[in-house]
Amino acid sequence: QSATFSDGSPRKTIVILGSGWGSISLLKNLDTTKYNVIVVSPRNYFLFTPLLPSTPMRTIELKSIIEPVRSITRRSKGEVTYYEAKATSINPRDKSVKIESSSQKGTDKFEVDLKYDYLVVSVGAKSTTFNIPGVIEHANFLKEIEDSEKIRLKIINNIEMASFLLPDDPERKKLLNFVVVGGGPTGVEFAAELQDYVRQDLKKWLPDISKEVKVTLVEALPNILNMFDKSLIEHTEKFLKKEKINLKLKTMVKSVDDDNINAMVNDKVEKIPYGVLIWATGNAPSDLCKGLMEQVEEQTSPRGLLINNQLQLLGFEDSIFALGDCTFHPGLFPTAQVAHQEGDYLADRFKTMYKIDQLKWKINHLDDVKNHSKKIRLSDKLTKLESKLQDFEYLHRGTLSYIGNEKAIVELKIGNSNYKISGPLAIWFWKSAYLNMCFSVRNRASVAFDWFKVYFFGRDSSV
Ligand code: FAD
Ligand code: NAD
Repeated sequence: QSATFSDGSPRKTIVILGSGWGSISLLKNLDTTKYNVIVVSPRNYFLFTPLLPSTPMRTIELKSIIEPVRSITRRSKGEVTYYEAKATSINPRDKSVKIESSSQKGTDKFEVDLKYDYLVVSVGAKSTTFNIPGVIEHANFLKEIEDSEKIRLKIINNIEMASFLLPDDPERKKLLNFVVVGGGPTGVEFAAELQDYVRQDLKKWLPDISKEVKVTLVEALPNILNMFDKSLIEHTEKFLKKEKINLKLKTMVKSVDDDNINAMVNDKVEKIPYGVLIWATGNAPSDLCKGLMEQVEEQTSPRGLLINNQLQLLGFEDSIFALGDCTFHPGLFPTAQVAHQEGDYLADRFKTMYKIDQLKWKINHLDDVKNHSKKIRLSDKLTKLESKLQDFEYLHRGTLSYIGNEKAIVELKIGNSNYKISGPLAIWFWKSAYLNMCFSVRNRASVAFDWFKVYFFGRDSSV
């Protein structure tokens, strides 16, 4: 698109970092005819994370929950440029971002400096390890498609290796110990999916092995799923125990070695052997965000980018917005629901900001003497428009979690009332909510088909 509009006013450039919940919801609603829009992300697709825990054991196929960025940008009214690249540093004073091509694997690095008028940082977070020794070396995270593939490969390989060994071989027992650390929703949902696979599918192929598999869920606090109501937490804990998931509460992992996790339980160190270890203890800021925080005096939290109520980065309110998991703001949790609503809000805000920028340009280009009264009129209009830039208000609609064996828990917020559902209705609610939230009709149809396939034919056991 041209750098100016027909009246000569400049077309401003928005650079959007990321292709996750925040960025894609912004992009879907942004009027791209009013700006030069550049999207930068090393991941050339949007990932529907709520169903990611269903993918390692193939209840859901990976392809069913991704949507290519280019198919999203293609539907845009205006032109959108997409670079499959990673932002490596942000220079907020110079209003530029250094990006590095991520498809160029090898010695030649392809680096570019992008200039922006407005920058939107929505790069998510990385998995936190709390610097616990051995986690990086031995554990698997569950954040991206690649993580899901790695977990599957390890679990299936361990099962195949175990079936090679004699039943009394201690190595066989070790290989079949699957340990999940973190009793947040990621840990619970994955442990539930894994146990479903063992009890519904593995049982048919390798009945003896399936009896020996042990799924352990480790949580430091006295209970799991702390964001849910107490009654739903109790229901889930009872249910997981009934499903034979070894639930270890008040168990804080301190280190991980080649064979065991070492955890503090009642002031004593307990060794928990593992064959495959999955780590889901929450989020930490990415290196890109840490680099930005170091340059800005107002960025005083180690937990994420500090923003105000209008999603503006503290210290660079005029030019940088941040949303989603890369930010830290009281009352705004790192969830898809928050990032999605923030993206919508920002798209609306950019519509008003475009009008404001146009008006400012007009006022600056009017002759002072000849257009005195017109200038006053336009300045009044500008003040009115500026007052339209309201704070972001998050509307919490509820929280859902899969807990295994076709069961879910749902906490709904309608007006000021909270509804808690854990009976047979919950799974239908969970399934229809996620189907409804899927990005495209293709995603929706694929997910529904995957559920249908698993119900009638079971899960695939090959790697
Ligand atoms: P993300 O969606 O993580 O997107 C970040 C984007 O930035 C990615 O495209 C990434 O490739 C890109 N990126 C990273 N680094 C760079 C860089 N240097 N330069 C440019 N781009 C970069 N929330 C719910 O509300 N409900 C759920 O059921 C739910 N389930 C979840 C299940 C799992 C397994 C996980 C891991 C999370 C789940 N969440 C859920 C949380 C939800 O996924 C996040 O809150 C949401 O993804 C945050 O959106 P975001 O845009 O901030 O980041
Ligand atoms: P989380 O922060 O929600 O939970 C992490 C858990 O790990 C906590 O309960 C914590 O006490 C525990 N933990 C931390 N250190 C530990 C240690 N050393 N030993 C044992 N336990 C330890 O993390 P998550 O589940 O990865 O979720 C991240 C974000 O994504 C959250 O905001 C969550 O709400 C969101 N999410 C939502 C859903 C959903 O709504 N269904 C699903 C997945 C993720």
